[in-house]
Amino acid sequence: MDIQRIIDAITAEMTAAQHRGKAADYIPALARVDPAQFGIAVVMADGRVFTAGDARTCFSIQSISKVFALSMALGKVGADLWTRVGREPSGSAFNSVVQLEHEGGIPRNPFINAGAIVVSDVVLGGGEPRETIGDILRFLRYLADDDEVQIDQEVASSEAETGFRNIALANYMKSFGNMHNVESALKVYFHQCALSMTCLQLAMAGRYLVHDGKHPGTGRQVVTAIRARRINALMLTCGHYDGSGEFAFRVGIPGKSGVGGGIIAIVPGEASIAVWSPGLNDRGNSLLGSLALERLSEATGWSVFNPP
Ligand code: GLU
Repeated sequence: MDIQRIIDAITAEMTAAQHRGKAADYIPALARVDPAQFGIAVVMADGRVFTAGDARTCFSIQSISKVFALSMALGKVGADLWTRVGREPSGSAFNSVVQLEHEGGIPRNPFINAGAIVVSDVVLGGGEPRETIGDILRFLRYLADDDEVQIDQEVASSEAETGFRNIALANYMKSFGNMHNVESALKVYFHQCALSMTCLQLAMAGRYLVHDGKHPGTGRQVVTAIRARRINALMLTCGHYDGSGEFAFRVGIPGKSGVGGGIIAIVPGEASIAVWSPGLNDRGNSLLGSLALERLSEATGWSVFNPP
């Protein structure tokens, strides 16, 4: 299979696309990103790397960070995490507050904002935000095998300045006893959302989810095999907010999107993929990124529903 030819063709189609969606504009650093960009990186299970378009341009990974934070939280408290956050698709927007009232302050899943804020509280574990943020950054550098991964401080500050809904979610969960340290957990959450990475770095970082939880460079388990499988299951069912069903239907691969326009997608045993295009669809997922992954799964046959 000629992956380079496939992604070159996809990149040509996406670069020429007329309808590109609308980039997030709730903070200046996202509003000023050039919407004409598109990048894709594919890291195969055997280590081969393919890139096309703007695969080496940094963007704000935003909610994609929730996958990595979840991996850290599971390493820290194991299955106890599931007493504080559920595993059901939410069917509502990424920052929705309504469901929390009916379900005792337990967020539906770790990929909606409320769930991710609880996960940040777990990763923090009563420690210092500065140290936890450093741990997250080091974890991403280790996974990506690249010390250039950075946190964009401007994005982190803007997230904090405009994060009224997230602050409300955290306090609301605190009222149910499901948050320990609201202020510090939010600081961690805002910084993890501000991780700035390229498609190539992200696809490299996702490799452990292709390899049953093992970092292929060091041979060390990042998460256990069963946890890797479960993280992939959550990405498939909850990775695109209220657009998760549509993404599973069209693409059939576990994926996690972010409002910066990135998506990470994992084909277990085959490949780790990252795509990026800033324009979003009406569910807040990258419009061309989703389309590109649909084209890639059509061209390669990659799907968790397609037996090898
Ligand atoms: N920083 C964003 C927020 O918490 C992340 C949302 C996203 O990427 O979906 O509102």
